[in-house]
Amino acid sequence: MPQPKYRKIAVIGYRSVGKSSLTIQFVEGQFVDSYDPTIENTFNKMVSVNGQDFNLQLVDTAGQVCMLYIALHYSFYLFTSVSLFEVVQVLHDKLLDMVGKIQVPTVLVGNKKDLHMERVIKPEEGKKLADSWGAAFMESSAKENETAVELFKRIILEMERADGNVASE
Ligand code: GDP
Ligand code: MG
Repeated sequence: MPQPKYRKIAVIGYRSVGKSSLTIQFVEGQFVDSYDPTIENTFNKMVSVNGQDFNLQLVDTAGQVCMLYIALHYSFYLFTSVSLFEVVQVLHDKLLDMVGKIQVPTVLVGNKKDLHMERVIKPEEGKKLADSWGAAFMESSAKENETAVELFKRIILEMERADGNVASE
């Protein structure tokens, strides 16, 4: 059995998009309805992808400190509305500036997909933006454990791909 690999993931996005809800759904397997939006927390979780164990350190960012983590960690982003769709582009530009790279392993996430009536961004639009970054795109609901798990596995695959450990899709 290979040794576990240590990986850091930062969950980045505007307030109230569901960063904490998705992180807690993944780590604890439950949907918490009201989580203090000012809390920034780090979680550890072991997950297995394609027979390899990954020891994850997850940073659920909140507020300004998020920029600091942007500079230090791999990332994934969330958005939930048109205006936040624009914010996420700004965040991504800042990230690339700060790390001085043209690409970092990223999954762009459209969360709250369960709120069908309030949908404003089509999946194709999210996919198009992610493609322009060379990133993956997924939609999720923090109410479903399955999509939360899929997201974090996807970011692992993106990191492995960046490290040259898995073939490009
Ligand atoms: P954060 O500020 O990005 O950490 O956002 P939170 O995780 O605290 O979520 C903000 C609000 O959106 C809370 O009331 C959550 O219950 C709610 N929320 C988060 N994710 C979802 C989701 O996928 N679906 C729905 N319907 N509500 C969600
Ligand atoms: Mg939060």
